[in-house]
Amino acid sequence: MKGFKSGFVAIVGRPNVGKSTLLNYVVGQKIAIITPKPQTTRNRILGILNRADGQYIFIDTPGIHQPRKLLNRYMVAQAKHTFYDSDIILFLVDATEGYGKEEELIVNALRNSSVPVLLVINKRDLVNQERIQGIRDEFVNLLKFHKVFSISALTGDGVEDVLMALGELLPEGPPYFPEDMVTDRTERFIAAEIIREKIMLLTRQEVPYAVAVLVDTFKENEQKGILHIGASIIVEKDSQKGIIIGKGGNLLKKIGTESRLALEEFFAIHVYLELFVKVRKDWTKNAHFLKELGYGEKS
Ligand code: GDP
Ligand code: MG
Repeated sequence: MKGFKSGFVAIVGRPNVGKSTLLNYVVGQKIAIITPKPQTTRNRILGILNRADGQYIFIDTPGIHQPRKLLNRYMVAQAKHTFYDSDIILFLVDATEGYGKEEELIVNALRNSSVPVLLVINKRDLVNQERIQGIRDEFVNLLKFHKVFSISALTGDGVEDVLMALGELLPEGPPYFPEDMVTDRTERFIAAEIIREKIMLLTRQEVPYAVAVLVDTFKENEQKGILHIGASIIVEKDSQKGIIIGKGGNLLKKIGTESRLALEEFFAIHVYLELFVKVRKDWTKNAHFLKELGYGEKS
């Protein structure tokens, strides 16, 4: 194993910059949920890339923003914790947005960091070269970066260059995880996240952030080649329950169908999906319940 490298790469950046997209791209599988709405990643998710020269462990962090609810406070704490705990930091910037309030917060948080920071300008497919150069110039004046890249996490353009730079920076050492592992998350957790993603995509504003998904049943019937998943969709109010169910149960049916198709694709097996909608008042403020959902454990 001489020369083998392994270490942790934190992906930081404002909500919607493309952190989860990049994570999924590098591990070649969908392990983090992606929606056009900010703040969909609630928990730290590890994505593991196993290559001949090393094990690259990526950490997708929730965005940094003003903490209001307990859930939000937890997300911010996770993000900060991740900065100082990794071997390399990938600072993602949205080429269509440039420098803003969130970037200022991150720049300040990174100013005294001894961990090398790579600036990665994402969504280069949406802007021209001049714009990228402009963003680059602005950022290098504010913080010392080990290197600067521009990529499209969506198409994968430029990502290999970033991986090569990571390979050079990672410390030598044996792998932390078995080589067939792509994430530290359980299949149950991923199933819940896939369902939550569909809900977020199919509902508007108020509702999505009040939704949690808890997988109660996860059983494979090998003879029949069917995976039985039973999940509770948990909301804070009766009115939200009504919205999720929809007129004549239409929306819930749609959530069910789209979730099932996505689950079948991920697990590569037929899925029998049962969904229940439950009201749990103020669950986003309930520390015990957050823990039960997997948002509470310290690591
Ligand atoms: P996160 O909040 O930082 O995890 O961002 P996501 O990965 O969830 O992405 C937010 C949105 O940006 C989604 O709609 C993605 O499809 C989109 N997106 C991410 N990367 C790119 C990219 O390189 N190009 C384009 N055009 N869209 C992207
Ligand atoms: Mg995300």
